[in-house]
Amino acid sequence: MKKKTLIILLAVIGVVIATSLGIYAFLKPKEPIKMDKKAKKKTQATVVTPPAYFCSVCGEETSKENSELRPIAVIVENHPAARPQSGLEDACTIYEVVAEGGITRFLAIYTHSECKNIGPVRSVREYFAEIAKGYDALLAHCGGSPTGYSMVKSLNIADLDEFANSGAYWRAKDRKMPHNLYTSTENLRKRAAERKFDTDSSFEPFKFKKDAPVEDRPEETYVEIDFSSPKFKVRYEYNKEKNSYLRFMSGLAHKDRNSGNQLEVKNILVQKTSISVVDKIGRVRIGNVGSGEGYAFLDGKVFKGKWVRDSLSKIIKFYDESGNELQLNRGQTWVEVISPDRKVNFPETTS
Ligand SMILES: [Zn+2]
Repeated sequence: MKKKTLIILLAVIGVVIATSLGIYAFLKPKEPIKMDKKAKKKTQATVVTPPAYFCSVCGEETSKENSELRPIAVIVENHPAARPQSGLEDACTIYEVVAEGGITRFLAIYTHSECKNIGPVRSVREYFAEIAKGYDALLAHCGGSPTGYSMVKSLNIADLDEFANSGAYWRAKDRKMPHNLYTSTENLRKRAAERKFDTDSSFEPFKFKKDAPVEDRPEETYVEIDFSSPKFKVRYEYNKEKNSYLRFMSGLAHKDRNSGNQLEVKNILVQKTSISVVDKIGRVRIGNVGSGEGYAFLDGKVFKGKWVRDSLSKIIKFYDESGNELQLNRGQTWVEVISPDRKVNFPETTS
């Protein structure tokens, strides 16, 4: 073999070996990357917790979508023939107010949860329109007093009156008129969209806190509110374990007709304010703006203080004796509106 040929042969062998090594290195199974403990910890620490969203009216945790919903205020009657009502259990907050003749009526506000059956729905009064305005709520009702109607108009309320939006309501066949008109949050939201009402609202909500720890709760306590006659007397009995109050109406458990459950309430707020009769039918005018004596019942305790509502575009707030805004427990709140001469009974030991 000539020297030149030998050199070429050696060069070719060299290239073949080098290429094979390259291919092997490329195809070689890769070893798992070992992470030292510090690096592992760092990766775990950067896991982001998804943000929590809360209902603007009752403070309960909910989805982002539901936290942005516009509240719906529905006027539900409390005539003995209308009991038990449907859907009160699902409301975020309920206002209980004396209408004419000592008969109480409710303004039930629905926001984060759906309710398929709410009623019986009744007519609007001006003070209900005023309360709904504070939440910038859609208002569901069936007709109204002349002053009720004019207040709905003058406050520019997103009005879902049954008279003009009958498709959102139905008459139940197993109850007699006028105690048989029902609606649902789905129907009302659908109708509100057809009417091109805003789907959200903005207002300054209640402040919320965590429930008091079990060891700080009393064994038992109660609250009684005397609206007018015994038929409208309300009693709440405290449940230490659940940290809520079971509601009684006229001496009987106040149940939701949809589920059969007794109504269970997290906060009871009492607003003492002027209530004066303004016409022959006995319709009343209620002082909804300003301030006055108030009580709050939560965690089995009573807080005496005052209620304040600066204007109709704000919701009511409660302050303790030191002037601090009360923080409520997350869940259903009842606001009980009574005149200063009506009694609120509770054991003094709970204060
Ligand atoms: Zn809610």
